[in-house]
Amino acid sequence: MEKLLILGSGPAGLTAGIYAARSDLKPKIADGPLPGGLLVQTGSVENFPGFPDGVDGFELTDRMRCQAERAGAVILNTQAVDVCFSCGGTAGHRVNFADGSSLECRNLIIATGSSPRWLGLASERRLRNKGVSACARCDGPLFRGMTVCVAGGGDTAMDEALFLAGFTDRVHLVHRRDQFRASQIMADRVRSEPKIVLHLSCTVEEILGTERVEGVRIRRADGSSETIPCAAFFSALGYDPNTGLFRDRLEMDPSGYIRTFDGTSRTSVPHVYAAGDCADPVYRQAVTAAASGCRAVLDCLNGAK
Ligand code: NAP
Repeated sequence: MEKLLILGSGPAGLTAGIYAARSDLKPKIADGPLPGGLLVQTGSVENFPGFPDGVDGFELTDRMRCQAERAGAVILNTQAVDVCFSCGGTAGHRVNFADGSSLECRNLIIATGSSPRWLGLASERRLRNKGVSACARCDGPLFRGMTVCVAGGGDTAMDEALFLAGFTDRVHLVHRRDQFRASQIMADRVRSEPKIVLHLSCTVEEILGTERVEGVRIRRADGSSETIPCAAFFSALGYDPNTGLFRDRLEMDPSGYIRTFDGTSRTSVPHVYAAGDCADPVYRQAVTAAASGCRAVLDCLNGAK
């Protein structure tokens, strides 16, 4: 039986791998469907400490991966497809993988991350990382002094629009209904920010541009359409935690984020810990995910005593 299995190889999973390997837990890390997590899709990361000139998201993840492997972690290029808690030999957890293999482990750290919601437009896919992004804090500063567009009506959209208004020339906020889902205070802040132009009861029909985003075409409720010239489009429709595998097996909040207890990374099942975005509806930064991976290992070591 493995001492520790980590599901997910984003900043949370890889940092857990580094700490666990150095603590002689001989961790195995299962990659998941997007090895490296959301960070690999991010262009320049300029807010991760230690990189004053910024670092490419893929490179940052690759460095973490090398560090985890150098410390002794073993990375498995497969993803978990089924999990059974406390049903392996001597009540370890059993995890089945997409390649047909399975492992039993004493401790499990779940670091499966979250996935941003997208509109689902072909033009949105084509221009991803060419001005289309789902992370204003990661990519927004690349558009300093320019006009950008944000879609969504929840707190994420408010937060991203306000953040972008801090350094862009203008932010067009497009929402499909005439009312925001966001909290009153966030919506009020957006309404009183002169740089933010609201387009309510409007849907995004297409992201325009060939090599880079050049604009967004929206359709109003009365059927008319408008083209908004802009350099970037931010999808801010919220995130879905990648926790479907654990539904009805772990306690979660109504949005599917794994619940942790007593200010630790312990979940509702003994010897199962959660780290990173799959348990974090609030902060969702590479640096906070990395820190939570460290915490999960320390909690695991404490729990093992
Ligand atoms: P959310 O509340 O689910 O809002 C998602 C928004 O995107 C909604 O306005 C929704 O429109 C819109 N949307 C979803 N799918 C769409 C589609 N296919 N096309 C067009 N629009 C679409 O998600 P969230 O904003 O990420 O918030 C999630 C939770 O995190 C909330 O509890 C929130 O309070 C919290 N949060 C808090 C902060 C903060 O600073 N306090 C920041 C971020 C998040 P409809 O309204 O029409 O459904």
